[in-house]
Amino acid sequence: MGDLLIKNALIGDTLRDVLIEGDTITRVEASLDVQAKKTIDAQGHCVIPGFVDAHSHLDKCLLNPIAPYVDGTGPEKGKLTREQKASFTEEDIYTRAKTMLERAVKAGTLIVRTNVDVDASVGLKGVHALLRLKEDFKDRLIIQVAALAQEGIYFDDQTQFLLEQALQAGVDVIGGHTIINNEGEPHIDFILGLAKQYEVPAEFHLDESGQRQHYLLPYVAQKTIELGLEGRVNGIHLCTMAALNETELAEALDHVKQAKMTVTIAPTAISTRQLAPVKALLNIGTPCAIGSDNARDFFNPLGSMDVRHPALVLSYVQRFFTKEENDAIVHMITAGGAQVLGVPYGIEVNAKANLTILAAKNSTEVLAYLDAPKAIIRYGQILS
Ligand SMILES: [Zn+2]
Repeated sequence: MGDLLIKNALIGDTLRDVLIEGDTITRVEASLDVQAKKTIDAQGHCVIPGFVDAHSHLDKCLLNPIAPYVDGTGPEKGKLTREQKASFTEEDIYTRAKTMLERAVKAGTLIVRTNVDVDASVGLKGVHALLRLKEDFKDRLIIQVAALAQEGIYFDDQTQFLLEQALQAGVDVIGGHTIINNEGEPHIDFILGLAKQYEVPAEFHLDESGQRQHYLLPYVAQKTIELGLEGRVNGIHLCTMAALNETELAEALDHVKQAKMTVTIAPTAISTRQLAPVKALLNIGTPCAIGSDNARDFFNPLGSMDVRHPALVLSYVQRFFTKEENDAIVHMITAGGAQVLGVPYGIEVNAKANLTILAAKNSTEVLAYLDAPKAIIRYGQILS
């Protein structure tokens, strides 16, 4: 006898029954005639492990209620954030991030990657707070923590040392920001060097301004290949791609392909920049993910940590409107996103029993109706 039987689950395009014993999926078949302590009829609704939110800044979330939103340029918003960051404590980061992680759980999210600032002003407070949350949420969420050189590696004389300390403390990913203070190539060299030394994936806020003088994608790809890090480097934003002509764009796509880079799009950035051409990236087989990015702060006062919201923004901005295009967007916030983050993902025998029954019967409804999931099961336990 199983513990939990899910009947009539729409997995991909196929109706399946799923049997759970303990925290593990033990059977997935067209029809299961078995006894279980509890049975849920999914009634043909989409069932996924959970959503994947591939990019966020939870150490800086919920600043908007503390200090009101002021409109301005990206650098101006960065300055406002730096002013707030100087007074962060580990406990206040923990509390704000916890509030937004609880929203992510409710939205049906299973996997979250958050960047955390590391520099002399905040030290490792964010790293410690988010590593605690990773542990405290482990029965509900898979959290990856990326130590981010948000202010650059030359902004103060401690960041380089602190990034190594963050890696030694157990962060999952090392993160850089290619345009910050025009640090460019040496910044990229340093971050990729740490990725190689500590055997962790690297990611970059890459070409975020969208300006041509900040076009470092070719350099990142070249260094990635030189260091043998193909398949382990993720680019976030890649806004400058939107400014390239047809020939240059073809070259840019080739760089991404040769270095086996993955790409994370943060669609709410459209408020200040152009987005990378996602259809072109998907067409060459690039694993692509979507992230909430900022949540209730100076950059995005409306962020919710429900990754369907930025997914919907991308659908509108780049017109992902056909059934196949809706499928592609939902893939980016489910299996495709998990691939970018390197996390096993699927509803199959021996997988962990993480299932989310959506209030939708196809990917178009997933994006059109932002209804709460009908049921959330994590490691065999029914959360709601
Ligand atoms: Zn970001």
